[in-house]
Amino acid sequence: MKIISKHSSGRKLKQDGYQISAIAKAKKLVDDSVVDCTLGTFFYEDGGFRGHKTVKKVDASLTDRERFSYAISEGGKDFEEAVKKWFFMHTLEDVEKELLVKVVPTPGGTGALYSSVFNSMDPGETILIPEPCWGPYLTISRNLGYEIERFFLFKDDKFDLEGFIEKCEKVKAKQNKLVIMLNDPCNNPTGYTMDEEELKALIEYLNSDPTVPCTLIYDTAYLDMAIEGMDKVRDRLKVFALAKENVFTSIVFSASKTLFIYGERLGAQIILGKDKENVIDYFNACVYTARSTWSNCNHGMMSLFVKINDSEELKKELDEEINQVVNALKERSEIFLKETKEVGLVTYPYKSGFFITIPCKNNQVVFEKLIEKEKVYLTLSDNSVRVAICSVPKKEIYGLAGKIKSVIDEFGK
Ligand code: PLP
Repeated sequence: MKIISKHSSGRKLKQDGYQISAIAKAKKLVDDSVVDCTLGTFFYEDGGFRGHKTVKKVDASLTDRERFSYAISEGGKDFEEAVKKWFFMHTLEDVEKELLVKVVPTPGGTGALYSSVFNSMDPGETILIPEPCWGPYLTISRNLGYEIERFFLFKDDKFDLEGFIEKCEKVKAKQNKLVIMLNDPCNNPTGYTMDEEELKALIEYLNSDPTVPCTLIYDTAYLDMAIEGMDKVRDRLKVFALAKENVFTSIVFSASKTLFIYGERLGAQIILGKDKENVIDYFNACVYTARSTWSNCNHGMMSLFVKINDSEELKKELDEEINQVVNALKERSEIFLKETKEVGLVTYPYKSGFFITIPCKNNQVVFEKLIEKEKVYLTLSDNSVRVAICSVPKKEIYGLAGKIKSVIDEFGK
């Protein structure tokens, strides 16, 4: 007799990043020669994990009410303003001139992804997901019962607009509607960042047929990790103001990555559209989803986020801490990429961020042999293995490309 619901039967996380990471961390505790490149969490050069000083200072200043009382599901005006200001910075005026912008707090970026997918899709419909992608894109969509179509991200190391359009046309022919997930900048798993032209071309394509409703779920979890710097990476956000009435954007913001408060679970869904009625409808539904799933978010972290945004001094202090992380990532990536060239290991086009990914056949075997032969723990992605340079100090990056190359040469062809 089966007790579990039919739709849940057989569901089990297999080789999830957190599971692999827990194993790697346990091994590292008893054997320091283990190289743990698994988790999307930043570890400093001394191997330690630490929160930002500014965050800890503001956290310690919160009153009991700011921290322990319930937050409201829709977040409130102060939180909405803080997220808009942080996210858009100097582009906010341009965007708000053209579009209505609403914000819903969510438990991490994952909550925003869940709400975006759930409130954009109807049963039987197909969602477009990039390949390679962060694993939960697939599990969120499958968990909600939607069909999936994949588009391959690259051609000649640039965003493959043509391939993307081809897949969109296929889905349009079936359901005359598009819902697309995209992670940019500092894409997980590849580290690619689309340039303004690429983003603009994508919006222009979505604009091109006013009869087709299009929702872009634009996941910006690593926005503040971009090597271009906080200002420059946001310059590109102006292109969202070009969206026509049929194009709707649900932006995923993760405070986990920006504030280093991964375990506190805070993020936001930023809803943008030209058609104000649609934005309000969607916002209302997302608040309904929030109340009916997680109810409301971490009030302490919401208060902290508002406080940092309200103080130029605190914001500046935090920006400096974030910049140090971005610089450390740059140094690590340079070491790794230099060695990939020396040993002839091919990676997807990396610009900046937490991860570098190596396409290979038999990735499962490569993953296992790297552990067995080299004590190197990576995670699995679509036909590839992912190196989380965020989680390893420089001294452990030296020689890593060579180890991966030798295992791929033996088992991954
Ligand atoms: N999107 C991507 C691509 C990610 O890699 C992550 C976290 O690893 C998230 C969203 C969501 O992160 P969180 O829910 O921890 O804020």
